[in-house]
Amino acid sequence: MENNHVTFVEIDLKAIDFNLNFFKSKLNPKTKILAVVKAFGYGSSSVEIAKHLEHKVNYFAVAYLDEGIALRKAGIKIPILVLHPLKVNIEKIIAYNLEPSIYSTKILKAFIDKAKELNIENYPIHIKFNTGLNRLGFSEKNIIEIAKIISEQTAVKVTSVFSHIAASEDLNERKFTIQQIKNFKELSNKFISLLSNTPFRHMLNTSGIINYAKEAQFEMVRLGIGLHGFGNEHNITAELKNVNTLKSIISQIHIIEKGETVGYNRAFKAATTVKTATIPIGHADGISRQLSNGKGFVYINNKKAVIIGNVCMDMIMVNISNIDCEEGDEVIVYKDQFHIEELAKASNTISYEILTAISQRIKRVLKKS
Ligand SMILES: *Cc1c(COP(=O)(O)O)cnc(C)c1O
Repeated sequence: MENNHVTFVEIDLKAIDFNLNFFKSKLNPKTKILAVVKAFGYGSSSVEIAKHLEHKVNYFAVAYLDEGIALRKAGIKIPILVLHPLKVNIEKIIAYNLEPSIYSTKILKAFIDKAKELNIENYPIHIKFNTGLNRLGFSEKNIIEIAKIISEQTAVKVTSVFSHIAASEDLNERKFTIQQIKNFKELSNKFISLLSNTPFRHMLNTSGIINYAKEAQFEMVRLGIGLHGFGNEHNITAELKNVNTLKSIISQIHIIEKGETVGYNRAFKAATTVKTATIPIGHADGISRQLSNGKGFVYINNKKAVIIGNVCMDMIMVNISNIDCEEGDEVIVYKDQFHIEELAKASNTISYEILTAISQRIKRVLKKS
């Protein structure tokens, strides 16, 4: 990826390796790693991340069909789990050799029917159990029925059984989480005992690995935001490396005289003379309008420059009164994990949303080492 863009996300693949190794060091050497690369690889580039990690992890996961197709089209060969397939996606799931998470009897039957129609044998599927998140998955009362459906055919084979923790990052919910883990063990044991093969199991996401590696790493873990340097807890994040840096430049500098205003609705009124820089990135690019009027900030020449007035669709204006800079100078819009976490807090959200909100209008560029 050549960089001839002014506003871009710089992706540091070496930092990804560092973070991957950090999480590996928390796990048994035999535990498989699934890298979650949904939502454009948490706003970076699913294709670049997947190409880079293909021989370092065992599995990839995406949320939706099209994300899996994009990886196959980019030449990714290792197994790809589609976390949320829908009935209408089944034919393409098979055509692109993607592996579905099966979370309802309806989709299980539809998938088997399609696989039979295509004369397929042993197509890998993954059975999802709901153990408390109440989002997707089978429950205890489905076990007998789905095991029967599966044992009466050979078109699909259960490769893994999994579940997802509701509050893996929140140690105040430890009791609930331990109960979820216990439920998963019971459900999966019962289900697996009714199958002719022994699928592997997985339950932990990034914070799950940090907090429950001892109790619930099973045979695989699903690592998402951790690869990008976020541990969902300050101490862990501090041990990780930042992957995504959002950069832009100053397109124009203005001197605003006392009494003048800046931006839409004249939201900023100058009490004294101020100097502003206009940056070519706005709310259409993922800079939340909630960061308007001093809540958000960027870095210019290593100094904080706060957003002045309202965030526009394609631009922000920042206060550079005390910064020595010129038009064309580099602007660091998202510096690192801590900067992103501060912005997340200021806009009432979490780092995941800040990362994934970066629009596709912004180019992704690999960091030159
Ligand atoms: C997104 C997702 C993950 C990854 O979670 P992180 O907190 O980013 O590690 C794992 N499992 C499932 C089912 C997910 O939807």
